[in-house]
Amino acid sequence: MRRIDSKLPLVGTTIFTTMSALATEYNAINLGQGFPDFPMDKSLTSLVNAAMENDFNQYAPMPGLPALREAIAEKVLLCYGTLINPGTEVTITPGGTYAIYTALTTILNKGDEVIVLEPAYDSYVPNILVNGAKPVLVPLDPSNFSINWDAVRNAVSPATRAIIINSPHNPTGAILREEDIIQLTHLVEEHDLFIISDEVYEHLIFDGRPHLSMLKYPRLLQRSFVCFSFGKVYHCTGWKMGYCIAPEAMMKEFRKVHQFNCFSCHTPSQVALASYLKNPSAYLELGSFLQKKRDHFTDLMSTTRFNLLPSYGSYFICASYGRISDESAAEFAIRLTKETGVATIPVSAFYQDGFDGKLLRFCFAKKESTLETAVAKLQKI
Ligand code: GLN
Repeated sequence: MRRIDSKLPLVGTTIFTTMSALATEYNAINLGQGFPDFPMDKSLTSLVNAAMENDFNQYAPMPGLPALREAIAEKVLLCYGTLINPGTEVTITPGGTYAIYTALTTILNKGDEVIVLEPAYDSYVPNILVNGAKPVLVPLDPSNFSINWDAVRNAVSPATRAIIINSPHNPTGAILREEDIIQLTHLVEEHDLFIISDEVYEHLIFDGRPHLSMLKYPRLLQRSFVCFSFGKVYHCTGWKMGYCIAPEAMMKEFRKVHQFNCFSCHTPSQVALASYLKNPSAYLELGSFLQKKRDHFTDLMSTTRFNLLPSYGSYFICASYGRISDESAAEFAIRLTKETGVATIPVSAFYQDGFDGKLLRFCFAKKESTLETAVAKLQKI
């Protein structure tokens, strides 16, 4: 048997898979992997059923169903005040992660460098490496997870092609501020960089703060691949449906990669989403819906020895366990799953060098009863 010369020799199984499997094995409450445990809206599943019954069961067009791309363009106008061309600037993808991978594959050649801010969602670095390119890692400020723009500027070299931005941020719940947009604009214009913007948590933003999407800033949008997830917006992460928005010339190249990979996405879901998107309240109410869960979880956790950090958006909130244990985050997360019955994600897994700030990530996109049962267990330690 010929041996495969691995493109990803140092990569193992993702932390989400590992912790979810451990949660199942030990019958622990899973506050690790980011997915809701409450049901999605039945009217959306009915629309998918109806689409199947009505025989929308063959290939959709490669870039996505036109009606869905038009509905996305209307949503973009409503949310961000920007006119995008649904014909040439939107592509439906099997999930946000695939959109990010495809965008990176579209722009990267061997030897190119991409700036990745850490802690970082775990797909970014392997997506860069598999393309023969090099991730250049820049830590966020460990005190509040803001972007250290001096460090970012120092990381730029003549080989830098792009920077990955993620707001609201997984795993920390940090969000971009206007000053970040100003700094980002200077950086990408001075060095002529692409932006890969992971905005899958666009509507999961709290306390009335606006989501500063690349779609709002023409100078940024003209060099951005902006990646979104229907799974995160409509509580159906298992659908693996998302989309990417980019200027026409960039999207043309993106589609060249996409058409020989996935070709096109699940047709009945696209038919359903095209009509469901016409109801903005389903996504506009999401922030306050999740904010209540964040606040409930925060109140409950105040009765434990964990110290929660602020979360301004996303499904996630991080907590320090310094008052409970000196173990590494990975060891502590495993023991917490096995002995206490609550699965989390060690934040050290979001750093390539395993930097350990002794933090765990909790997903609070769960039923109140799930959060309450989990915290009752956490109170005991
Ligand atoms: N985005 C989800 C998280 O951060 C997980 C996605 C996955 O398991 N690949 O938990």
